[in-house]
Amino acid sequence: MSAIKEEKKKLGFGLMRLPEKNGAVDVEESMKLMDAFMAKGFTYFDTAYIYGDGQSERAFRESVVKRYPREAFTITDKIPCMMLEREDQMEAFVMEMLERLGVDYFDYLWLHAINDANYEKMEGLHAFEYLKEQKRNGRAKEIGMSFHGSAKMLDRILREHPEISYVQLQINYCDWTDANIQSRDCYEVCEKYDRPVIVMEPVKGGSLHNLPERADSLLKSMDSQMSNASWAIRFAASLPKVMVVLSGMSTMDQVEDNLSYMENFIPLTEEEKEKCIEAGKILREETAIPCTACRYCVSECPMKIAIPDYFSVYNNLKRFGMKSDSDIWNYFLNLIKIHGKPSDCIECGMCESRCPQKLPIRQYLKVITEEVENRFA
Ligand code: SF4
Ligand code: SF4
Repeated sequence: MSAIKEEKKKLGFGLMRLPEKNGAVDVEESMKLMDAFMAKGFTYFDTAYIYGDGQSERAFRESVVKRYPREAFTITDKIPCMMLEREDQMEAFVMEMLERLGVDYFDYLWLHAINDANYEKMEGLHAFEYLKEQKRNGRAKEIGMSFHGSAKMLDRILREHPEISYVQLQINYCDWTDANIQSRDCYEVCEKYDRPVIVMEPVKGGSLHNLPERADSLLKSMDSQMSNASWAIRFAASLPKVMVVLSGMSTMDQVEDNLSYMENFIPLTEEEKEKCIEAGKILREETAIPCTACRYCVSECPMKIAIPDYFSVYNNLKRFGMKSDSDIWNYFLNLIKIHGKPSDCIECGMCESRCPQKLPIRQYLKVITEEVENRFA
């Protein structure tokens, strides 16, 4: 099956990490970023019901839907599979999503975060049938899913559900050969079924931007003018089956940097791709906890533990040294004042069921309790 609708440019605006002010999405600033993106001829935007508890969809409505003709943009939204318990909830979610966005149809409608663990449940709730109906009734031009599972499961789903025309996958040079994420294997399944791929997390939640020195020097040795994020985004965009690479842009600097090399995109050479993969290996060696800061786990935690923030503290302490007088350390002390502490974990496991990176969160929290909290707090 060939691509049903090809996007003109390979960069999409991920609306998951919009700029914030006073704890809420800063709509005025978001508008400027989206205007700059569209001014260069880019049109693809990606949001989800759960992003910012609806603030992402609403910021898009204010910034783009109300100010541009409908045909000037493409919007993807996602039904929150992680919140589904009953079949009739899907209709309520979709109606709310359309209302929040201020549109009467989605260009692309996905099932959000399908994986090995929730596939059977989604089958039981007839989620795929519901999605098909949305295409039949015109609310969605195209349908697909974002996927966080194994290549084997992806193969099964695409075999059992030929109506899934697009697949959103986590692809970046660090996870490309990772046995847990299986980026490459999943990509190859999409090739086998001839499904266009939309890439999420190309910069791995920002971790491919702030690289350890060895990896940073390796990328700089190819071109000192190009940003680290550019290598990550261009690596994903260089894959032939990739239709769009999403970048969760939060600042004008990020937008301008992305546009500078994606406006007239040139794929990486094989040698450049190899060097990126090498940089990814270095990063894996030097990153204690490979969390992407997506925050899907946070809302699940009954103890209000700031899981990704503690992981970030731990990674930084590991990389820069366990000093109790550093800024990182002060940040940790502030975190434990306003959130649950790592040691507050009751090991219910709710967070792990939501983690797309399949991290053993409970185990990591125990390590952080022992190595950081008990030692210094
Ligand atoms: S296992 Fe611990 S961190 Fe995870 S949701 Fe339960 S209490 Fe929170
Ligand atoms: S622990 Fe997992 S779910 Fe939580 S922020 Fe990190 S990657 Fe996301």
